[in-house]
Amino acid sequence: MIWQGICIHHSATADSASSSWEAIRRYHIEHNGWDEIGYHYGIEDVYGTLRLRIGRPLSMPGAHAVGLNATHIGICMVGNFDRDLPSMSRLDYLALVIADIARNYRLEISPETIKYHRDVADKTCPGYLFPPKEVLIRMVETYL
Ligand SMILES: [Zn+2]
Repeated sequence: MIWQGICIHHSATADSASSSWEAIRRYHIEHNGWDEIGYHYGIEDVYGTLRLRIGRPLSMPGAHAVGLNATHIGICMVGNFDRDLPSMSRLDYLALVIADIARNYRLEISPETIKYHRDVADKTCPGYLFPPKEVLIRMVETYL
């Protein structure tokens, strides 16, 4: 795969701490019949502890956003940000993860390379309450 950017999602599931990422993985494998969860990475908040979860390997195209699966690494913020405001610590952690991936894959950070799912689909993902992309990009830049 030649990665050109990163696409951010929320799971839109209730933020039920520990089991959400595994529940998504099971759903994608058992219900959708996929080989792996559709995202490459996940970030979950387990009783206040942020965790990076590894999804499908980066040698596989994603299954998270039509039109971006072969070009953009998919990161899912576990939670429902149509309903809940993402905490600063969670956004900061996301920014750090994006910066690290960008360094490893030599990705430019711009509104073109950093996508929200809603940029390419008729969805709210990663949620109404997620900050504008320009804000997230500024946070990422502090780690580059
Ligand atoms: Zn999405």
